[in-house]
Amino acid sequence: VPGDEVILTASDLTMEFKGFVAVNKVNLSIRTGSIHALIGPNGAGKTTCFNLLTKFLTPTHGKIIFKGKDITTKSPADVARLKLVRSFQISSVFPNLTALENVRIALQRTRGDSFDFWRSQKIIAGFDDRARVLLAEVGLLQLEGVIAADLSYGRKRALEIATTLALDPEMLLLDEPMAGLGQEDVERIAALIKRVSVNRTILMVEHNLSVVASLSDCITVLARGGVLAEGDYATVSKNPSVVEAYIGA
Ligand code: ADP
Repeated sequence: VPGDEVILTASDLTMEFKGFVAVNKVNLSIRTGSIHALIGPNGAGKTTCFNLLTKFLTPTHGKIIFKGKDITTKSPADVARLKLVRSFQISSVFPNLTALENVRIALQRTRGDSFDFWRSQKIIAGFDDRARVLLAEVGLLQLEGVIAADLSYGRKRALEIATTLALDPEMLLLDEPMAGLGQEDVERIAALIKRVSVNRTILMVEHNLSVVASLSDCITVLARGGVLAEGDYATVSKNPSVVEAYIGA
């Protein structure tokens, strides 16, 4: 159960695109060790918020503090070094390499090795052991020798999360981790997120409300660029303006 300590705060976060305000004075406070969900109808500003927090966008106004450091103008690479890491798309998994090779490469990248080097076949002692720990964490250890292209969609998602864990995140941002998954995979990935959240903070944008309900310690509901409601699922789901925003969407 997360305590009162806060790992990330965003204050007055605002993003304008040519006069259109996609994110409007959003305040967020993410507690250390929590699973925090960002939800809301289409166009609410979730993706924009996500991109602001991972520094793929720089806000027009506002401030983002991570672990006491102002990261408002930092690059994605800077914040990744501070251990604020976003999930990559499945396309970042090399389809022709095995699950183990994919995680090993992700680990080798964290050493700052050059592209040529990390794509080479050279195997650094110790990396496979660490890669296997991460594969075990996402439930893929038995499949370490399987070519990524031959993994099911849900297992590719798990592999993608393992390559993200290779960056040793303290806070992990997941963009719609359940997107495109069948019910069985949804349950598998939900359990995986719960497991990886044990030593980490998780912020996820997610449309699957039953997953959000079962996983989240705190939910922020966005609508039209602003915060509509915040709290646990029981609280926000009873909020009349939340119900209205979803029905009206
Ligand atoms: P959500 O992820 O909640 O569906 P988005 O953050 O993708 O919402 O978008 C919020 C609003 O901002 C939408 O109206 C969208 O059209 C607009 N928007 C997002 N990105 C841009 C952009 N690069 N240029 C102009 N408008 C954008």
